Amino acid sequence: MIELHQSLAEIDWIARPRLTPLRRLGIETVEDLLTHFPRRHEDRREFSGFPQEESESPVCLCGEVTKTQLRRFGGWKKIFEATIEETGAHALSQPLVLRWFNLHYVQKMIATGQRLVVFGKPRRRGQRLCMDHPDFEVIENDDEISIHFRRITPIYSATEGVSQRVLRSVIYRLLENISSDSVATLLPRNFVEGARGEALHEIHFPESEAQLAAARQHLVFSEFFALQMTIAARRKRAKTRTGRAHSGKGKLEQKFLASLPFQLTAAQCRVIDEIRGDLETPQPMNRLLQGDVGSGKTVVAVAAMLRVVEAGFQVALMAPTQILAEQHYSVLCQWLDPLGVKLSLRTGARQDESFLPLLSGVDRPDIIIGTHALLYESVAFSGLGLVVIDEQHKFGVSQRALLTGREPAPDVLVMTATPIPRTLTMTLYGDLDVSVIDEMPPNRGRIITAVRDPEKLGEVLSFLRKQLEAGRQMYVIYPLIDESEKLDVKAAAAEFATWRERLAPFRCDLLHGRIPATEKQTIMDSFRSGKTSALVSTTVIEVGIDVPNATVMLIENAERFGLAQLHQLRGRIGRGEHKSYCVLLSSEKSTETMAKLAVLEKTSNGFEVAEADWNLRGPGDLLGTAQSGLPALKLGSLKEDVPLMLRARAAAVAIMERDPTLDEPENQRFRQLVVEEQGRTFANVS
Ligand code: ADP
Ligand code: MG
Repeated sequence: MIELHQSLAEIDWIARPRLTPLRRLGIETVEDLLTHFPRRHEDRREFSGFPQEESESPVCLCGEVTKTQLRRFGGWKKIFEATIEETGAHALSQPLVLRWFNLHYVQKMIATGQRLVVFGKPRRRGQRLCMDHPDFEVIENDDEISIHFRRITPIYSATEGVSQRVLRSVIYRLLENISSDSVATLLPRNFVEGARGEALHEIHFPESEAQLAAARQHLVFSEFFALQMTIAARRKRAKTRTGRAHSGKGKLEQKFLASLPFQLTAAQCRVIDEIRGDLETPQPMNRLLQGDVGSGKTVVAVAAMLRVVEAGFQVALMAPTQILAEQHYSVLCQWLDPLGVKLSLRTGARQDESFLPLLSGVDRPDIIIGTHALLYESVAFSGLGLVVIDEQHKFGVSQRALLTGREPAPDVLVMTATPIPRTLTMTLYGDLDVSVIDEMPPNRGRIITAVRDPEKLGEVLSFLRKQLEAGRQMYVIYPLIDESEKLDVKAAAAEFATWRERLAPFRCDLLHGRIPATEKQTIMDSFRSGKTSALVSTTVIEVGIDVPNATVMLIENAERFGLAQLHQLRGRIGRGEHKSYCVLLSSEKSTETMAKLAVLEKTSNGFEVAEADWNLRGPGDLLGTAQSGLPALKLGSLKEDVPLMLRARAAAVAIMERDPTLDEPENQRFRQLVVEEQGRTFANVS
């Protein structure tokens, strides 16, 4: 009998050469393989007749190969064609041509006389009915035919070195031999029917659509339940920590707010109140502040910081980039120097003179601003009362834990502009209280966004120049998706030279991640002061940068960025009273790209952008990331399975409320769900 936790390497009938490619898929144990769920199923119990017309929905067919042909086109390109005909076909049925472009290996797999199962969308191409790049499987007369055909057949995401057929056979055999005792059903009673062992069987090899649906439901629910137990435990853990009240009377805060040249929005006031409520209680605050780019989160955070400073505690403000940390430092200096609040900056690159005394405890700063440097260097905080983490999605859970895990527990405020649908907020941040700034400051100039073909650059340029002549400033954004991507310095320099010419005599600077820190700072200062008119930049400016007079942004190769990132980038403009313009350059005309970019033309509201992104792309693997520290979802969909998620959450919360230490015999088995999580959260600090 095989046990679920066993390593595949221990099972001798699995051919050794399969192990490496499986490992590449992250599959090491029996459990990993059994939870490598099918991507979809094909109903191969009975095949439909050959199509006579094209169709939008894919069909699954079985036929015999009557002809193969390799054709060349456009010089070196090759197209491989295999014609299949329905076996025992009625005379009327027309053959189907399967086509593969530049995929040489397919040619080696298909030969005349073979029987194939194919899955794809039939398309009319002139006289012929074609299917391009279909999924296919050759029917061999082996004794395994009952695994692969004549049933509802699982289709996996296969990999090089492990074919569909092998994967299916191995999984089949594992399921036949698994010891059912080793497959625990970790679910609260009365929530879902059935046992995990059966569900695993049925998700791979269902006997009916209904059985498949029920198995999926069971497994999705368990996955969600495990996730929600983790979150509920995190929340519980946070609630049992001892903290202190960190709130002064509010004199400093009042002075600060009175000194601002603007009135707070109602949303800002409401959120400040919510935070204050948390600061006043000894229970540690654990709050997420959500607000679209430009909604004014910084002011809110500063108000909270001043409460804490007034009460005699220290504050740490952590930002993901040096540029942003520097900006916070300089903005806060302007606001807070007059109030006598002592600030200190600590980034990997720079350490101002006021920092050193901190280490010896002399002249302790009230607020320490920094980057990751706050985590990894020997920063000696004293009486840390509040930790504010800006653009928190840029940090991992474990990184945040390093700063917030101190004793006694500081209050924690994390901020993000990533707008997340409500249901998901609860999932990702179920361990946090959430405040939302759902209102923009008044008198913001509108942002007009337009997609343009690079061929139209001439027109765009004359428009840009007019804006610069009117005294505005602009960003030109490079298509380097992130800073880790290799920066071709030469290309950047050439591109920069071109822009300098185009925009002369206006001053133009180049900014990217490889520029030394001090220089970066000089460049930003010069842009902020208006001396530089245009900043040609990579996405280093993506987060947080606030220069209200910069009202124009041109993004090159816009198709290369995701919607969320484009929205973030665009958030750098539209910060002042002037009308702003965002030009998305792209020569790509695919439907997906056009649909994506059209979203930005239509709206500048972050929640609407997120909603659209979600609809176009699905939520992606939002969970299984260092950011959330939560296990990745293998089966459940954060979009389609929301009702199950809500039930799972209710179940988990109920259990943790009643039995927080999971001592009841009925609940002890859930400990493994939770312990695992702690291991993950605290082990991968890097
Ligand atoms: P984000 O939420 O993206 O971090 P910021 O805090 O950087 O936004 O604020 C964007 C700009 O709006 C800043 O220049 C800030 O001073 C300004 N601002 C914040 N609140 C208001 C307000 N109520 N009225 C006018 N301007 C505001
Ligand atoms: Mg910000």
